[in-house]
Amino acid sequence: MMTSSSSSYARPLVRRLQAYVPGEQPQIEGLIKLNTNENPFPPSRKVLAAVKAAVDDRLRLYPNPTSAALREALARLHGCRPENIVVTNGSDELLALAVRAFVEPARTRHSPRSMVQFFDPSYSLYPVLAEIHGAAVNPVPLPPDFALPSLRELRRERHWDFAAALSLITSPNAPSGRAYATEALERLCRAQKGLVLIDEAYVDFAEEDALALALRLPNVLVARTFSKAYSLCFQRVGYGVAHPDTVAALDKIRDSYNVNGLGQAAALATLDDLPYYRQNFQIIINTREELTRELAALGFATFPSQTNFILTRPPRFPAERWLEKLRERKILVRWFQHPAVRDCLRITIGTPREARALVLAARAILAD
Ligand code: PMP
Repeated sequence: MMTSSSSSYARPLVRRLQAYVPGEQPQIEGLIKLNTNENPFPPSRKVLAAVKAAVDDRLRLYPNPTSAALREALARLHGCRPENIVVTNGSDELLALAVRAFVEPARTRHSPRSMVQFFDPSYSLYPVLAEIHGAAVNPVPLPPDFALPSLRELRRERHWDFAAALSLITSPNAPSGRAYATEALERLCRAQKGLVLIDEAYVDFAEEDALALALRLPNVLVARTFSKAYSLCFQRVGYGVAHPDTVAALDKIRDSYNVNGLGQAAALATLDDLPYYRQNFQIIINTREELTRELAALGFATFPSQTNFILTRPPRFPAERWLEKLRERKILVRWFQHPAVRDCLRITIGTPREARALVLAARAILAD
């Protein structure tokens, strides 16, 4: 993650690379951490017990190389076959594998076979992955309300490339929180010649999902993660759902033991206690709506969200000042320099208590 002084032994591409900057993980006592979209609720007790039970002499053995038991359980959950599923070290690994498996490094800047395409703003890891691979990027600007443009608009006004090797679509999107209708996504996927990866990292907090498209259309790969909704960031488990040929291609190039054994055990136990998680989703969704109302009363303009975070435009001071002022009160939120959102804060939905603390802090800052 060091960006400034890369080794002179490194390839020029690596020396030039602007590395991805993850959200901070500071160790400050009493900090209310609302900056990286983690779930405020702990993993289920079954998960903690399964992980503890797996910590024994078996740590010296390699884990199952294909995450077989987890793939079977996921196939049962999604009504598909294990051949439709690849498990990865967080969904970040799936994104990187998709770039490596489906995109040619660029020889000419504009070949669609070398193109990684995505909406902007969206997950800022996408251009970094393309850059690492030596691929070309096509960031397609979203309108000010972050809605998904129609096919016609994409074609005529937004320079979307319907032949791009890989299109990465986040739904619900980050940092906007806005979800795209499955019908609209289906139209886009059907019009697209290359592979479409629908990144559903936040989908458990949304009204609908597009997983069925991955089982119906050969060019769709849906990415999911245990990180956010399933309180398992620490363990790094994600997965992809797609046509078996797409899965086989990803499977061929991944590391043999890409998912550690404790992560596999934790994810498997998660699937055994889904009602616990679904209750938490509901609390988070309710807290999101309540927080949006309370902030509106203070003059914050919040975009409608179907995720476990909100994007909100604060009143009175620039957003970057709010970041500092909240931090002084031990509340950490996220601010992005990106011109489309630099007047906004992205705030993770914490517990109802944390949300109240945020509202109180905002009220105090405004009264100062
Ligand atoms: N996709 C999106 C849109 C995200 O925000 C994140 C989390 N930063 C990820 C994927 C990756 O999550 P993980 O690797 O923890 O599964």
